[in-house]
Amino acid sequence: MDYTVTPLPDVAAKVAAARAAFATGATKPAAWRRATLQRMRELLEEREEQLLDALAADFGKPRFEAWTTELGFTVSDIDHTLAHLSGWMKPDKVGTPLAFQPGSSYIVAEPVGVVCVIAPWNYPVQLLLLPMVAAIAAGNAVVAKPSELAPHTAAELVSLIDAIGDPAVTAVQGGVAETTELLAQRFDHIIYTGNSRVARIVMRAAAEHLTPVTLELGGKSPAIVSRHANVEIAARRIAWGKFINAGQTCIAPDYVLVEQPVHDQFVAALGTYIAEFYGDDPQASPDFTRIVNEPHFHRLEKLLQSGTVAHGGVTDADTRYIAPTVLTDVKSDDPVMGEEIFGPVLPVLSVPSLEAAIAFVNERSADGDTPLALYTFSESDTENDLVLAGATSGGACVNGTLLHISNPNLPFGGVGESGMGAYHGKFGFDAFSHHRAVHSRSTKLDPSMMYPPYTAKKQKLIRRGMSMADPRDLFAKARGALRRD
Ligand code: NAD
Repeated sequence: MDYTVTPLPDVAAKVAAARAAFATGATKPAAWRRATLQRMRELLEEREEQLLDALAADFGKPRFEAWTTELGFTVSDIDHTLAHLSGWMKPDKVGTPLAFQPGSSYIVAEPVGVVCVIAPWNYPVQLLLLPMVAAIAAGNAVVAKPSELAPHTAAELVSLIDAIGDPAVTAVQGGVAETTELLAQRFDHIIYTGNSRVARIVMRAAAEHLTPVTLELGGKSPAIVSRHANVEIAARRIAWGKFINAGQTCIAPDYVLVEQPVHDQFVAALGTYIAEFYGDDPQASPDFTRIVNEPHFHRLEKLLQSGTVAHGGVTDADTRYIAPTVLTDVKSDDPVMGEEIFGPVLPVLSVPSLEAAIAFVNERSADGDTPLALYTFSESDTENDLVLAGATSGGACVNGTLLHISNPNLPFGGVGESGMGAYHGKFGFDAFSHHRAVHSRSTKLDPSMMYPPYTAKKQKLIRRGMSMADPRDLFAKARGALRRD
């Protein structure tokens, strides 16, 4: 059998053009980085209507949500990056041990080269553009590929990127064949956002060229509600975080573990807030998104058979509508607890204690399903600390959902099966930079201590010299000793 992939010249040519552009050094100066980001920002504002229309056409994303979670989110990330870029680009001076004086040492963030960005469909704008913003800020060339599952938005994004008019910043449109061809090229970093099955394909392809990867994946993110939580606020914030984008959010609360004494109150409150957000008939609400395609619709429809429907449960295949749904009496081995739900279906499981909730999450993590996000709801700091210390996750919110992703001062990334590496703000700049170590020596002195011929006297001197560390280390050691006393 012939396994050769038919070459798609457009893909290879675009990568080659980006590499050639990088090789000219044009992308390295701060001025290019700023101008490119500003151009992207202008285009986002100029094309706001087209982008919002495309998002609505792809999966009925309400314009308010599309602006806040996609366009506004990206523009504010560009603004944050522009405000901090000079600081991030400054070499970072570090101490030099006495033995290596006179000299100085510093770390310089250098662009890695050509970065490949592969994005999914669920937040198709920000998940393509934010990694690009970080890669451009770090002085790299970029080749980006939006998801074919949000085709209207993908076409708008490719057109927007083309309008930047720079071969160093380019986009490839297409599906599996184009991505396969893209992954056959050599990149200097690949950032992939999507599911963990394809992440394995990406990592295998990257291994061929020893290319580093950032993998932004998903998983089942739990919310834990204590008997000491503000139950109304917990229900409102969990309902918002779950049903925004119809649950098609990587960090959506996937399921809730609620302490038994407040279970019924919590489930009732979820019903109240679903009605408050979307009315008595959410199908008629302009604020509720649809499922992206038929396979996902049918997958989700089957999950409604787990447990008992407490709220929602209505579906409409013609419009790919699944009502905001809450399931109770769910068992840990029901299908809805098998894989990441990625839709508007929320199982609520009653637990006897917070310890039991932590054990439940850790059992899943031990099986490889480490959560991307974890949400803890309690009025007691001690309880929230117990949950945070007891179970790991990529990120976390205390008494809230989703919002940790919106703070550009926090890294965004997973752990274990939910991903590797992180970006957003300075963390994105660092992800696409090589941190080059530079030690600069003075030529005023050049003692012969380390040069052959090696003598006993030299060895004695060098042993003493090497133990005379950087003065900063000595201070740190002294501070540590004081603290121990
Ligand atoms: P998707 O189907 O749009 O796929 C993502 C990308 O992978 C697309 O660009 C697609 O072209 C490419 N792709 C698909 N099959 C491929 C193959 N065989 N070879 C090479 N490339 C291929 O999106 P998805 O994977 O369904 O996205 C949903 C998943 O992504 C969920 O698990 C969700 O939790 C996760 N996600 C994570 C984040 C995050 O930031 N951590 C954000 C959004 C979504």
